Amino acid sequence: MKKKQKIIIMKFGGSCLKNVESFSQTTEIVKKYMKQANIIIVTSAFKGITDQLINFYNKSCGDGEKDNENYRECRYLIESIRKKHKEFIDENINKESVEYQDVIDFLESNINELVQLGRVVRLLRPSLDILDLIMSYGEKLSTFIVSKYFNSIGLNSEFISSDEIILTDDNFGRALPLLDETEQKIQQRISNLIKSNKCDLVCVTGFYGSTRDKKITTLGRGGTDLTAAILAYGLEPNFDCKVIYWKDVEGFLNADPKIAQQTSLLTQISYIEAKELAFFGSKVLHPLCLDVNEKRNVPSEIHPFADPYSEKYTTITKEVQKGATLIKAITSIKRLSMVKIESGTMVSLPGTAAKLFNLLGENNINIKFISQSSSENNITFGIDLEDSMKVSCLLRNSDWFGKQWFSIKIDNDISLIAVIGAGMLHTPGIAGKVFTTLGNNGINVRAIAQGSSELNITIIIKREDCVRAVNVLYDAFINKKLMQN
Ligand code: ASP
Ligand code: MG
Repeated sequence: MKKKQKIIIMKFGGSCLKNVESFSQTTEIVKKYMKQANIIIVTSAFKGITDQLINFYNKSCGDGEKDNENYRECRYLIESIRKKHKEFIDENINKESVEYQDVIDFLESNINELVQLGRVVRLLRPSLDILDLIMSYGEKLSTFIVSKYFNSIGLNSEFISSDEIILTDDNFGRALPLLDETEQKIQQRISNLIKSNKCDLVCVTGFYGSTRDKKITTLGRGGTDLTAAILAYGLEPNFDCKVIYWKDVEGFLNADPKIAQQTSLLTQISYIEAKELAFFGSKVLHPLCLDVNEKRNVPSEIHPFADPYSEKYTTITKEVQKGATLIKAITSIKRLSMVKIESGTMVSLPGTAAKLFNLLGENNINIKFISQSSSENNITFGIDLEDSMKVSCLLRNSDWFGKQWFSIKIDNDISLIAVIGAGMLHTPGIAGKVFTTLGNNGINVRAIAQGSSELNITIIIKREDCVRAVNVLYDAFINKKLMQN
């Protein structure tokens, strides 16, 4: 069989594009990898820009009484966004080059569009689709500038705005890609470009796509990771793809360094384990991008941007490493709320759980764990602390749960700990050891949940016990193992 052409898709986040030094580092990395494979880079907005765009939208929504003040802040924000890009352009692109005038024109016309959008929001009042459109300008500007920069230093770089190739549903703010159609678009737009060998580098905007009726959608905060994964998904059938995520950490750690006294880098981890890590607190990667990479078995790596040639990084592959430590990581989500809904009537009223989770789902509430006792008269679930008020209002105002036969209790001092490792599959005694360890240290377990995948054991404890629980479990499962080896 003919060997497939190699493509490396590299994701650069805002911190790789924050000043002259970081940008020249990015350039150096791209040039180095270009010698080994065809390169596609996917870039986020310049550092801080997405937050400013969200702020601009919020201020444009206004509040009648403070209209003048909001208007002034909007102008200030737009000016600051314009200035940051202008500085970046001036510092990096030669003023004599043709590209310089192109990027300046592009910047000015996009800034004008933003000003117009602010007006639309002020007149028509908030709408989530306009927020997504406004946010997308961050990536559109940064990637265009980066691509033109590469042109200006003599490389043949092609700019692609991701709404041309990524089709999503219309869940604004957290849209999901429609993979089959997206794959076709990616192949049409990028495959030939690469095969023709006419271009040295493809620069694709991160973070957004578009719906069938061509409205811009964003993929959730940190969504540029997901864009890189989606590109690999679309190209893998015809090419041999790899994704490299350049980050401000070395890779996945086996515990949160803000909580655990010791941590170490996970140099090799499987997709299924990494997904658990991402879900339970590790913020290294957008959780969905792991899923997408796994679907086509695309290997990926997380590399530290600050030390790009370091040997220390994380590789994520399909295979679960055999013979490695049973438990790979102890992760935690410190700020959670636990909601308990109790009623004697749940037994006789099937569909209560469905009603509950529909209500939460429709209101974009992310559920971190669920447990239902077998007596069926209570359902307990965990949510982000930030969502606690919203959930309380939703439940208490709902026709169903707000009625007197349900009692709703919300505890806002909860943390979640997850003991993670594919090795626990077929290994009895892990749960027992977790409970003994916590019990011996006087830590009370408020609730437990184990996914049927047996990749993690989730324990809910009081927040004041969180740090201690992570450390005693780390000692019991990870340090012990190291000592035995
Ligand atoms: N710029 C977007 C954000 O800040 C997407 C990303 O950085 O991946 O969330
Ligand atoms: Mg970012």
